Amino acid sequence: MKSILSTLPSILPLVFEWVEKQEALILAKAEGLTEDQQADAIRAGVSSPEKIRVLYVETLPKPERQDLQFLAQQIGLFSPRSIGLALGYGIYLRRDFREARSTLVHECVHVGQHERMNGVRPFLTEYLRECIDPGYPFGSLEQEAIIMTQAICGQNAR
Ligand SMILES: [Zn+2]
Repeated sequence: MKSILSTLPSILPLVFEWVEKQEALILAKAEGLTEDQQADAIRAGVSSPEKIRVLYVETLPKPERQDLQFLAQQIGLFSPRSIGLALGYGIYLRRDFREARSTLVHECVHVGQHERMNGVRPFLTEYLRECIDPGYPFGSLEQEAIIMTQAICGQNAR
C-alpha cells in the first residue's frame, strides 16, 4: 500500500480531471434536493445545500483509464457495496437506494468536507491519501461521514 501512496501525486491530476468532468455532467442534468433533503444536508455540515445535484444511476460510473481503475481497485472504492459517490456538488446515488435517507446523508457529509477544505482538489488529495493509509474506511474523513450519518439517521445507518 505504501508504494501506491508514492504514486498518488502523479495520478491525482487524472483523478481531478475525471471527478470534475463527472461533477459538470451531474450539475448539467440532475435534480436538486427537496426541502427535507436540504435540511439533512445542513445537518450533515453542508453550507450551500442548494448547489447539490443528485443523479440516480443503475451502477456508479467508473473511470475508463486503466491506471485510475487500478487505483480505485487497490483502495477498495467502487466495490459492489459502494452505493454513492460525491463529486464536488454532484452526487451519484444508486437508484435502488433512492429511498435510503442515510445514503444521501453520507454523501452530503463528504460535500460538507470539500466545502470546509476549500475545494474538491484538497478534499480528494486528503481523502485518497487516507484511503491508502490507514486504508478505507478507516481514514478520518470517511469515519466522520459514517459517524455523522449514524448521528443523523440512527445507529444502523451506514
Ligand atoms: Zn464515504
